[in-house]
Amino acid sequence: MLLDTFRPARTRRLELLQDLCWRERTTLRVAVVAAHPDDETIGIGGSLHLIENLTLVYTTNGATRDGRYAKQKGFDDNPSYIRVRQQEVQRALAAAGAAASIVCCGMSDQEASYNMASLASKLAKVFQAEGIDVVVTQPYEGGHPDHDATACAVHLARRILFRKGVAVPEVVEMTSYHADTDGSFTTSVFLPGGPAAAVAELPPQDQERKRAMFECFATQARALKAFQTKTDRELFRPAPEYDFTRPPHAGLLHYERRDWGMDGMRWRALARSARQSVPFTSSQRPSMSGSEGPTRARHSSPEFLLAPESQAVPAN
Ligand SMILES: [Zn+2]
Repeated sequence: MLLDTFRPARTRRLELLQDLCWRERTTLRVAVVAAHPDDETIGIGGSLHLIENLTLVYTTNGATRDGRYAKQKGFDDNPSYIRVRQQEVQRALAAAGAAASIVCCGMSDQEASYNMASLASKLAKVFQAEGIDVVVTQPYEGGHPDHDATACAVHLARRILFRKGVAVPEVVEMTSYHADTDGSFTTSVFLPGGPAAAVAELPPQDQERKRAMFECFATQARALKAFQTKTDRELFRPAPEYDFTRPPHAGLLHYERRDWGMDGMRWRALARSARQSVPFTSSQRPSMSGSEGPTRARHSSPEFLLAPESQAVPAN
C-alpha cells in the first residue's frame, strides 16, 4: 500500500521538470521550500508564474535572533525587519505575476540547523494539508547552513509522510550557491557530481520578471548583486539521495569560510541527530556509513526525463 501511494508522485516530478523546461503552465500542487526570503527568486523566480497551485514555504524569517541583521539594515528591531522582508516577498510575487500561499516556519536566520526535526514535522503537515505533489527546494551544497538544513528537513518530512502511509511528494531542486575552488562561491549551477540538470531557458519576458523580483528585495540588494546577472536560465534537477552525515564536497564549505557560527562537522552531527528522530524500520533503512568522506549522491541517469521509475522508497 505504501509503495503504491508513493509511485505516482515520481511521475508528477517528471511532469513538473518538463513543464518548467517547456515553459508551460502547470496545475500540479507545488511547494517551493526555501530557507530565506529571496532564495525563491534566485532559484525559480523566472518560473513561479507557471505554477498555478503554489505554496511558498520559508523555514526561517531571515532575521538573526540577536537582531544584528535588522540593525545592519537600519531597523529598530527584528519584528519591523521581518515585516519588511515579508512585504518584499509579496512585492516580488506581484512583479513575477505569481500568486502563492505563504507559510513561514518561523525559525531565526542561522538557526534552521538546530531545528531540523521540528522543521520536518512542520513541513510534513504543510505538504499533507496542501496535498503537495512536488516540492522544489535547495540542494545540500554547504553554501549556507540554513539551506542545507532546509534540504535535510524536506527529506525528513518525506520520511514522516511515508511512515504515515500518506502521499509523499517528490523533490526537485533549484540552484543556490556553494564554495568554489578560488575561495569565493559559485551561483546558478549545481555542485558537480549530482544528477543531470534540466535547463529552463527563460524567454525575455521571464528574464524581466526575475530581474523585477530582485529589485523588490531592497534590504538584500548588496547580497543579491552576485545573482542578478544570471537571469537567462534556471536549472532544476531531481533531488539526489543524500547522506547528510557526509560533507557535500571535499575541502572547506562556503559557510566554513564565513563567520556564521557553524562548521560542517557540527552541522552533520545535528543532521544525524535529526535523522535518528525519524528512522526507517530496519528493512527500509538505506545503508549508512560513519565515514566523513564526501557524500556520493546517488541519482537517476542523465536521461531521467525519460527514465522508468525504479526506486520505491523516499530518498534520505
Ligand atoms: Zn538563503
